[in-house]
Amino acid sequence: MGARASQTLKVAFPSHEPFPLTGMLELAVAETMSQPATRPERVTGILGTVFQQISGQGTSLSRVRCLASGAREWLLQRAAGLFWTDTGWFQAKCSECGADFDIPTVLAQAPRKPSGHDFPVVTVRTSLGQRQFEVPNGCHEEHLARMPGGDPTRGLLAQCGLSRHALREAETYTDDDIASIEAALEAASPEVADEVVTACPSCRAETRARIDPLDFAFPGVGSLLHEVHLIAASYHWSEDAILALPSQRRRSYARLLRAEPGRRAGR
Ligand SMILES: [Zn+2]
Repeated sequence: MGARASQTLKVAFPSHEPFPLTGMLELAVAETMSQPATRPERVTGILGTVFQQISGQGTSLSRVRCLASGAREWLLQRAAGLFWTDTGWFQAKCSECGADFDIPTVLAQAPRKPSGHDFPVVTVRTSLGQRQFEVPNGCHEEHLARMPGGDPTRGLLAQCGLSRHALREAETYTDDDIASIEAALEAASPEVADEVVTACPSCRAETRARIDPLDFAFPGVGSLLHEVHLIAASYHWSEDAILALPSQRRRSYARLLRAEPGRRAGR
């Protein structure tokens, strides 16, 4: 046992330093969002684009992949907070009657569960003997999202197992083994709430709505390019210069231009 070292970084809710919020960053985020990718790959891309430092070190995609899943989700909510004012609403679908309705987003206050004392590696007594597992990270998420079919739980144990024979052993664990391993991993993993429980306004049923910042928080390229066009047409600044402006200032210029007398609505 213990044939390979854990890759999951021992940091639950890492310190983080975003790049300055400019049109350049918005454009990079919009491009990341437009690539065909699985959800875990998209999270990796967004975190790698938005943050220049995570946990005191320069951000790289491989480092972002080694963060525990809960740490990634928490950082994704922090990244969303840069672009989304957190005072708006977003759409949820009732799991009972299928009605769409709006619920307030409360990303900034989403409750957290701290990591357990043995994070990021748990030791579990199984029917095969004592085995170690690392808390799931972005590599595991990306791998599983690409794995067609198969049993996702055993697939995850094959990935997280640190034993030399983790792949084979994942197929032979009993249901009790799996329950023990899952419980140990859950107790050790840092988590941030990504669901709200709310009453559906149509059928009054209590429904759980998943908050996925990827669904609503990150900017598209449309309004950005419109602002670049407005400013470039009036001031004759280069695209690079306009994209390098702090986003707030760019928006202020665009607002001034839209308010000019004689400008048609929507131009
Ligand atoms: Zn309903």
